[in-house]
Amino acid sequence: MKCSKDCEFTEGELSPYGNIQLSPSAGVLNYGQAIYEGTKAYRKENGELLLFRPEHNAIRMKLGAERMLMPSPSVDQFVHAVKQIAFANKRWVPPSGKGSLYIRPLLMGSGPILGLAPAPEYTFIVYASPVGNYFKEGIAALNLHVEEEYVRAAPGGAGGVKSITNYAPVLKALSRAKSKGFSDVLYLDSVKKKYLEEASSCNVFVVKGRTISTPATNGTILEGITRKSVMEIASDQGYQVEEKAVHVDEVMDADEVFCTGTAVGVAPVGTITYQDKRAEYKTGDESVCQRLRSVLVGIQTGLIKDTKGWVTCVN
Ligand code: PMP
Repeated sequence: MKCSKDCEFTEGELSPYGNIQLSPSAGVLNYGQAIYEGTKAYRKENGELLLFRPEHNAIRMKLGAERMLMPSPSVDQFVHAVKQIAFANKRWVPPSGKGSLYIRPLLMGSGPILGLAPAPEYTFIVYASPVGNYFKEGIAALNLHVEEEYVRAAPGGAGGVKSITNYAPVLKALSRAKSKGFSDVLYLDSVKKKYLEEASSCNVFVVKGRTISTPATNGTILEGITRKSVMEIASDQGYQVEEKAVHVDEVMDADEVFCTGTAVGVAPVGTITYQDKRAEYKTGDESVCQRLRSVLVGIQTGLIKDTKGWVTCVN
């Protein structure tokens, strides 16, 4: 789908996956004017496909587009496009429990612009790929490293939206951590460097007794759709769920830590390294993480009845 700066998107079309043409002076290539989303289609045991809360991705894209001064597709257009892509790629979706179809909606300033200004034209594309586990660990516990040199986002920046400009800067810290054997990094706030933010592409939760805490969304972390869903499942199960500033010392002293995201699902953390300290956490079948994970995955794959209206059938 294409549209100019001041107009609305019109109906798009399905086309085979392939390269797209852009001017060298496209806004996205020079000024990073682009945001994206990530959602998944899951296969039920009876073969049907389910999407998980795609309207929340649409709303998040709308908010992100406002921040980046871009027009955006309507919620209906977004959800329709995601459904069309899922349906068209139905045969590529792995069997239930073996993976999913990752769907990537991308909105970019595709028109040419030389001076720093919003692009004159925008393109909305949705593409998809079958995926298995995000981390090489699968659903085994992750080993995280608290990053102290680099920050992911600063107050007033674009950390709260899914802008492409948030991702290239994390590559250096991430690849350094991976080369040392860690699964991912945990970012701290940019001001005091003492409060937990998130990992490179997922939100983080800390468990102590029956209390589950997660960093409050104050514009520097992404408000994950999985995060929001897991918070609701945890409250339903009687846990005390808190959004607050989570001090790194609390993280190191927690019973459990886990990460949430569309790509990672609900992933247990086995160890966290911070300065010269290394904390180990409870994982396994009896963990809070596993209890929350099984409910989320159950709803996403149709094994558990969706009483919340979270899944949409693709037909
Ligand atoms: N934080 C960041 C930086 C992310 O890229 C993602 C993945 N979208 C998340 C958190 C988790 O968000 P969601 O649960 O909506 O996938």
